[in-house]
Amino acid sequence: MVLSVNLEIMTEQEIKEELCYYDLRNPDVVGIYGMTDEELKEDGYGNHAKKDCSCDNCFYGRTKMAEELLKYVSNGG
Ligand SMILES: [Zn+2]
Repeated sequence: MVLSVNLEIMTEQEIKEELCYYDLRNPDVVGIYGMTDEELKEDGYGNHAKKDCSCDNCFYGRTKMAEELLKYVSNGG
């Protein structure tokens, strides 16, 4: 059960770093400071992955995995 082992090691913060670069939950999202909500939305930012995104995390499938892991983390408190 590799999944449960990873869950014990990875913190919620670390999982969120694997989210889409346009996902505002990702603590690594940079360069958005000072942008209005409207500008963020126009550029595809939000509390979700950007549609048809090709950032590194989306491209390599990390986004999908991180989303899945977050479900377990938030359920487990
Ligand atoms: Zn992405």
